[in-house]
Amino acid sequence: MRPAEVVPDISSGEASRLLLITPPNSYRTAAYLAAARRCGIPVLVASEGKHSLVSEIAGGLHIDLQDPAAFDRLIAAHRSGPFAGVIATDDSSVELGSRIAGKLALPHNPRQAARFSRRKDLSRQALAAAGVPVPVHRVIDLGLPLAPQLGDVDYPCVVKPVALSASRGVIRADDPGETVSACERIQRIISRESVPGSFEASHVLLETFVSGPEIALEGLLYAGRLSVLAIFDKPDPLEGPFFEETYYITPTRHDATVRQGIVACVTAACRALGLQEGPIHAEVRLDGSAAVILEVAARTIGGDCARLLQFGTGHGLEDLVIAHALGKSLPVEPQEGAAGVLMIPISTAGILRRVEGIGGARAVPFIEDIVISIREGYELVPLPEGGSYLGFIFAHAPTPEQAEAALRQAHEQLRVVVAPLMPMQDLRSG
Ligand code: ADP
Ligand code: CA
Repeated sequence: MRPAEVVPDISSGEASRLLLITPPNSYRTAAYLAAARRCGIPVLVASEGKHSLVSEIAGGLHIDLQDPAAFDRLIAAHRSGPFAGVIATDDSSVELGSRIAGKLALPHNPRQAARFSRRKDLSRQALAAAGVPVPVHRVIDLGLPLAPQLGDVDYPCVVKPVALSASRGVIRADDPGETVSACERIQRIISRESVPGSFEASHVLLETFVSGPEIALEGLLYAGRLSVLAIFDKPDPLEGPFFEETYYITPTRHDATVRQGIVACVTAACRALGLQEGPIHAEVRLDGSAAVILEVAARTIGGDCARLLQFGTGHGLEDLVIAHALGKSLPVEPQEGAAGVLMIPISTAGILRRVEGIGGARAVPFIEDIVISIREGYELVPLPEGGSYLGFIFAHAPTPEQAEAALRQAHEQLRVVVAPLMPMQDLRSG
């Protein structure tokens, strides 16, 4: 049984609001807004572009995350309605969030630590320098000839952008030829996604492929102390060449010794990166039984997956993060039973016509919900170019095995109908 939802008592007393800094189309914004509404704290959403949620919210602020003026605009907004806490929802807004919270003496990470959250190459360097286990890695300059830079690479390797997320552009290569192709493919992706002329637009990270099972750890830092909220297994072998997230199942089935090793490794990584406050999402691989850090980000788990976590006290992950941002803490007890999510991968490129079989999938025991997050008529872009999921299947069950089996069975019920993409016709000719 899941506990009844409780309303967190975290109101701050004074008239104040929460600042939520978010890129457009973040999966996380809606969940934070719902949690803030539950605890009765007003929110100012600062977001880029034509964020549908911002237009819906009176007083939402349009900012450009890359624009230095964004900082001053948010500080000016604070003067007209003080912020009691600041939350950055995604990697791209973490650095600005930490600067604002720092300026206002609210819980925050040092700017440099927040920057590591977005730049994989800098994060790797800091971890390696502190002796935290990370894959052997190097930065490749795509503006220089590749062959001399690939001379002594150990294969298989993984090539990835330095500043994207959701496994976009992450490609395994088994020999020099595949590595060159991967670099060329990533170059096309990052030249679309990065500021022209920036470091991110012209460099990739190349690292050794760590072949063991993968685990994710969700935690909250309070003044440098890590509170572990959940450890997830990713039960599908993630061998590449592309790395779809697919299944996350908690609690982990690894034994206590392995769990302790994971927590110790993530704790050391947070310290090495200088992370002090707020949510962290870490990804770890087991090389034999030793944990190797793939990533530590200063934000919550990706996609819509946070809703999987409903703690024994009835609080959800966003409730805990909001409380922390306001300088408070909520009691956490482990949730009962097991929970799992399948981030439904996009396997075929084209136009989404419809998803059939949702009723049958919902009827599978232990399935709690199915969300299709791409609308019919929209384009489906598989990895490595795409960065979205078709949707999410959620399960709660007595054991992790049952949660995983339910997700697999539900997924088998779904039939995704995709129309091929028509090449654009030139209407002027003939
Ligand atoms: P992103 O920030 O886009 O999620 P990651 O660096 O976390 O990028 O890589 C995405 C996935 O690719 C990982 O979850 C993992 O499955 C796989 N991966 C990345 N680097 C390695 C590596 N060095 N060895 C093995 N697998 C890797
Ligand atoms: Ca990742």
